[in-house]
Amino acid sequence: MNGTLAVGVDLGGTQVRAALVDDAGTVIRRAATMTDTQGGPEAVIGQIAGLVDAVLADEERASVVGVGVAAPGPLDDERGLALAIPTLRGFVDLPLVAMLAERLRLTVKLGNDGLAAVLGEWRFGAGRGFSNLVYITVSTGLGGGVVADGRLLRGRRGMACHVGHMTVVADGALCACGNRGCWEAHASGTAFAQEARRRAAGAASSALSAHGERIDAGLVFEAARQGDALASAIVAEEADMLGLGIVNLLHLYSPERVVIGGGVSNGFDLLHPGIVARVVRTAMPPFRDVPIVRAELAGNSGLVGAAALVLPGSAAAC
Ligand SMILES: [Zn+2]
Repeated sequence: MNGTLAVGVDLGGTQVRAALVDDAGTVIRRAATMTDTQGGPEAVIGQIAGLVDAVLADEERASVVGVGVAAPGPLDDERGLALAIPTLRGFVDLPLVAMLAERLRLTVKLGNDGLAAVLGEWRFGAGRGFSNLVYITVSTGLGGGVVADGRLLRGRRGMACHVGHMTVVADGALCACGNRGCWEAHASGTAFAQEARRRAAGAASSALSAHGERIDAGLVFEAARQGDALASAIVAEEADMLGLGIVNLLHLYSPERVVIGGGVSNGFDLLHPGIVARVVRTAMPPFRDVPIVRAELAGNSGLVGAAALVLPGSAAAC
């Protein structure tokens, strides 16, 4: 174990997770609980405090530089505010950093979850050593982050790179943000599973049809691996839609690598050929050879990245 420690907290709409992380990005201990989405800020802050206590022994407190918190946006990470987190009741203009710092008696920093995850992969995962990087996480939603010219791209209030809300289909599917046709509405894990449920309902020949409303991304990948035609077609469409968004990101940011994380990356081997096919078909020729790789920190990109928000070395990066 290295000398400097930090706690990373990933505050999600389903789970709150915390991990004790050393300055090599190694997860030493982790804990998680279901987010009390309806309990209001005090309840959630109580949950975070409980998780921090669970991963941090008393004798380790002196070695901890602080607590980094990754949360869905929009946030104001300069002022430490949750501006309006749609999935958590009462998280509107909430001084989350001040409330947590008072409760935990530790330094607290807040960051958008996409930004934290790209920081984790850049410092400790598949993006190590690159100055230009695009990271996307494909799970319940679709988020991401960008490293450009050796710096984390932050934008005003740290709100850059809400990549899931770029429009990919004019007047397309309704997105959680209220608009239609967002990349998230067409390619997130939620959209992928919904499409599979819809199509399986009328397809008795597919192994998926027996699972009805229980169909999730994992089941679709499993069926595709066993050669199920419907599952394979839906995976191919998902890969193509991911590739379409990635072509936009290649043209915008000219990364050396594109890193894909989140739950849907469990099917990375199945998705990769279709993503590459779309890139080779529609990206301008000089962008076509950019490697598209799977995240290395697996489910921990956001947690380790949250810790990296407070670990030494990240201040210059941000
Ligand atoms: Zn949207």
